[in-house]
Amino acid sequence: MRLSVLFGVAVAGLAGLGYAYRSDVSGFLSQRGVNLPVAEMSGAAAAATPKASAAAVPCRTDPLAPAVTPTVTFSSEPDTSGKAARYGTLQYPRGPILPMQIALTIDDGPDATYHKRVLDILDKHCLKAAFFFVGWYANARPDLVRDTAARGHTIGTHSWTHPNNLRRLSAEAQIHQIGQGFWGSEKALESAPADQQARLAPFFRFPGLNDSPTMLAYLGKRRIAAFSSDFGADDWMGISAAEVERRALKQGASSRGGVVILHETRVHTVEALDSIITEFERRGYRFVQIVPAPGARDAAAAAPDPLIGRVRAKR
Ligand SMILES: [Zn+2]
Repeated sequence: MRLSVLFGVAVAGLAGLGYAYRSDVSGFLSQRGVNLPVAEMSGAAAAATPKASAAAVPCRTDPLAPAVTPTVTFSSEPDTSGKAARYGTLQYPRGPILPMQIALTIDDGPDATYHKRVLDILDKHCLKAAFFFVGWYANARPDLVRDTAARGHTIGTHSWTHPNNLRRLSAEAQIHQIGQGFWGSEKALESAPADQQARLAPFFRFPGLNDSPTMLAYLGKRRIAAFSSDFGADDWMGISAAEVERRALKQGASSRGGVVILHETRVHTVEALDSIITEFERRGYRFVQIVPAPGARDAAAAAPDPLIGRVRAKR
């Protein structure tokens, strides 16, 4: 009964997927201020690599990259007002990412057509990223979720069916979207080894970056962090691969790196990804992987009415 209700809602929500990407981040990019040019930050590049030992061994298939992507931990503890921890200067504070560091985050998958290709590109660069999965897709392709976890990437969530503005839904429907988003990825990892299950982080990104005070409080209570981004590439607009790369490099320079948001459902993004990574590395940026702070997953699972740990609890 419960499942059939879920699928009914999901089918209705799928109609929203077609236009879901268009307005992602557009409004926020224009709000950003001008920052120092990249050249002035070159001295910070070395200091920006948190684990010097990891950088000592180069990636076999990318001499510009380390074999192991350094990690940067993000707390999911709410602020003093009870609102979720929030990261990404398009809307929020920057978080612990230093100048000239870039954390690659990829939204809207796992995409049946492009996800494997994206994983292979990342492997070529020995680069661990963070994916914000749509629960419906994760539930449809649990093999892709497991592959992502097995290759060591961080998995965050991005709602159940990606309605582009949760604020237009009732509170009950918003809660359903967020909850099933986590459920979809957690369910996909149910049979995976424990260390791979742990790749599901207490991280959420609002579709279209459209947050609300109510839902930030909802997430805060459940020890879930909300991720915006520090820069993007306007790749949701359907621009060419060359233009995606140009904008990524330009906007990355303007924000001195940070959390970048890309979309794996766009062919031009996938076509540009390899070159974008190489070009950032060539310019002295260092990729890092966002991971939850120690104990953050357990804290989220122990929260009242939790968003993590529900699949196991139902057994
Ligand atoms: Zn999205």
